[in-house]
Amino acid sequence: MRTFDFRSDTVTQPTPNMRKAMFEAVVGDDVYRDDPTVNELESKCAALLGKEAALFVPSGTFGNQLAILTHTKRGDEVILGDACHILRYEVGAAAVIAGVQLRSAPTEKGCFYPGHLEKLIRGDDIHFPETGLICIENAHSGGNAVPLEHMAAVYKIAGDNGIPVHLDGARLFNAALALGVEAKAIAAYADSIMFCLSKGLCAPIGSMLVGNRSFIERARKNRKMMGGGLRQVGILAAAGRIAIEEMIPALADDHLMANRLAAGLEKIPKIEVQQAQRDINFVFCKIALPMPLEAFTEALSAKGLIVTGTPDGHFRFVANHDTPEEGVDLLIDTLKTLLS
Ligand SMILES: *Cc1c(COP(=O)(O)O)cnc(C)c1O
Repeated sequence: MRTFDFRSDTVTQPTPNMRKAMFEAVVGDDVYRDDPTVNELESKCAALLGKEAALFVPSGTFGNQLAILTHTKRGDEVILGDACHILRYEVGAAAVIAGVQLRSAPTEKGCFYPGHLEKLIRGDDIHFPETGLICIENAHSGGNAVPLEHMAAVYKIAGDNGIPVHLDGARLFNAALALGVEAKAIAAYADSIMFCLSKGLCAPIGSMLVGNRSFIERARKNRKMMGGGLRQVGILAAAGRIAIEEMIPALADDHLMANRLAAGLEKIPKIEVQQAQRDINFVFCKIALPMPLEAFTEALSAKGLIVTGTPDGHFRFVANHDTPEEGVDLLIDTLKTLLS
């Protein structure tokens, strides 16, 4: 039976072209900077975001934490949104690796409230930590693309106070698609950007950290310290190149499939689609469950549909490269049947 996995875009399989490129990759020792495939991917990614340099890192978490470590010193305070990945889902790493304190601010659709960010930036008082960094997430994992105007406003406030901005752009290209701009236009409002090759872009492993040359050189050394100096990593960079060249354009299909799914679910009376969170390839919804969660997900899995949800009926369905139209339609029809 064919299965369709709606849990995340992290479940995507490397494409046949990626496997071929990995097989054929010309590689070298990347710690000596001898890997031509990595060097090519790094310069491609820098150019794509309009920055000077880029660095291949093993994961998104690695890239975010490396950025924090490189921008800050121990004891600094980092301002970020209270629903962001760095705060919620990175195992407290900022305290362990960079030794910084995270200060969260409430956000709506990934945006800080007007006038709030300024108030969180620390002054000169002897008691205060220094504000070392502001982080923003775009696309936000709540399903929203943060508008360019908000990115610009945050960047201006940060710049006026001499504070760098790091963008957690795990799904940067989904945000660009949703906003109808080039990724470069979003990256213009950040000093460093992390984006994932391994989510909707289908690469098996890897993220990129992008910024100016001196930042990336310092990050390169810190990456070595963190154990991320990899050797013949062109094997992975080869898949990353296909991700950039072939899979960024393909994200538009994921967004269309998410729209198709949302439109189908919208017609089912026991499902409430959260339309306010519908900018990218995510569909959040509340389902009035007719049975316990486990039985419900098992009934879906018997049809080849893999989903996760909460016992009170909150679900996030993610459209990805491996959930084509027939998978989306099967999910809609199966939910219709289960809920009738
Ligand atoms: C997935 C994700 C990350 C981390 O990426 P990993 O490769 O899973 O470590 C960081 N930020 C956001 C917003 C993410 O969705």
